[in-house]
Amino acid sequence: MDDWAALGYLVAAVLFILGLKRLSRPRTAVRGNQYGAAGMLVAVLVTLTDNSIIGFEWIVGGLILGTVVGALLAVKVQMTAMPELVALFNGFGGGASVLVAAASYTQAVDLATDTSRLSSSAALASLIGAVTFTGSLVAFAKLREALHWSGFPGITILSGLGVVAAVVFAVLTVVDAENALWLWLLVAVGAVLGLLVVVPIGGADMPVVIALLNSLSGMAAVAAGFVLDNSLLIIAGSLVGASGLILTQIMCVAMNRTLLAVMFSPAPVGNGAEVDDIYAGKVRFTSPDDVAMLLESAERVAIVPGYGLAVAQAQHAVRDLTRRLQDRGVEVVFGIHPVAGRMPGHMNVLLAEAEVSYERLVEMDDINPTFEQTDVTIVIGANDVVNPVARTDPSSPIAGMPILDVDKSDVVVVIKRSLSPGFAGISNPLFAADNALMLFGDGRQAVVDITKSLQAF
Ligand code: NDP
Repeated sequence: MDDWAALGYLVAAVLFILGLKRLSRPRTAVRGNQYGAAGMLVAVLVTLTDNSIIGFEWIVGGLILGTVVGALLAVKVQMTAMPELVALFNGFGGGASVLVAAASYTQAVDLATDTSRLSSSAALASLIGAVTFTGSLVAFAKLREALHWSGFPGITILSGLGVVAAVVFAVLTVVDAENALWLWLLVAVGAVLGLLVVVPIGGADMPVVIALLNSLSGMAAVAAGFVLDNSLLIIAGSLVGASGLILTQIMCVAMNRTLLAVMFSPAPVGNGAEVDDIYAGKVRFTSPDDVAMLLESAERVAIVPGYGLAVAQAQHAVRDLTRRLQDRGVEVVFGIHPVAGRMPGHMNVLLAEAEVSYERLVEMDDINPTFEQTDVTIVIGANDVVNPVARTDPSSPIAGMPILDVDKSDVVVVIKRSLSPGFAGISNPLFAADNALMLFGDGRQAVVDITKSLQAF
């Protein structure tokens, strides 16, 4: 690499770091994104001009293919499918690291060049990349709710054996560095391990897994960076790996789980059983007009969004309702649970899109003590994050998960289409609580109807 390329990589790395710093605050996030994109542009240009390994016809071919697939995905994918797309991208990152590492390594073996420098980083990139690839495919299927299987008895023991086999093959890849077979066996074990570890995880633990897979994709890139001797890949991978780990830790705290418990003692997935016992004859229903009447006399209103808000694309309707209430002198706040929706920050992104002021978004720990002084709480498409069994039932899949204590407000209006469970698959006694009113319907339409009724007062 010449000095210009090294300088270019340094500029790109600085832009990435500045971008990340700015991404940590909503106000500077757009600028942070621009810094990151500029850094990536510099990185790509430098890599292309410094390229002496591969013909440009391959690069242009890859570029066209990637652009077509990317553009199609960008146009076709629904906003609600973004989390699973992100899971898929993590997997592609891991898969790419496997291909890069294995190609460089097998080429070195074929050319009978010294593989000792490559072998340990190639082994790490292949193992972590393969785990990330298949693990992310499982996460993708689970987020799409296309896969509900949580494995078989003894799957954790099998995972343990897989870890032992992976260590053995990794060591063999390093000590018997002239034999590429060990590396391929390592890739195969890593791929199976990714399946075995992620399949049992479900219930409310998925956010932790998504964050961890994101981090792993970065770590695989770091190892691939060592294989290619590319400083920028090492730096960029480290940034992804480290930020993914921090996010994993935040998600663990949000779920009140340790990482080891998530990986090796997965929470059971609920089956929505005993619904009749919980709901029979106890659920009270309401209408948009009645909700409007309640809001009319409220002084403080809390809105709690969940995954259903994203499905219904109700964020703009919610903003309009908020403005109408504010015009009437009502104090309106939003309670944001860290794992509401299907990806970290999901609710913040949606509400920011509708230009709901950041100051109104109150985090769980801050809003919980205030529910007792709240006249009306409107829960829109949230279920698991407001489920009181997390506090009361130690055998529940979400036991111990801190929730938004909406049941402590004077009245709770829950807007959803039915009594169906949420992601964790468990029923929710909140719907049958004395102070709860169910408003059945699509989240967006229900909020529009409430706003219209409010106008009539
Ligand atoms: P939930 O998945 O618990 O509940 C969402 C609710 O939205 C459903 O009960 C559904 O009920 C309702 N809904 C769906 N469509 C509509 C619609 N069009 N209008 C109105 N309501 C609708 O969501 P929460 O946000 O409360 O909890 C998130 C869950 O997802 C947690 O278990 C979390 O662990 C998990 N998870 C979170 C991730 C993250 O990173 N944030 C990642 C992966 C999983 P109905 O069908 O009756 O309308």
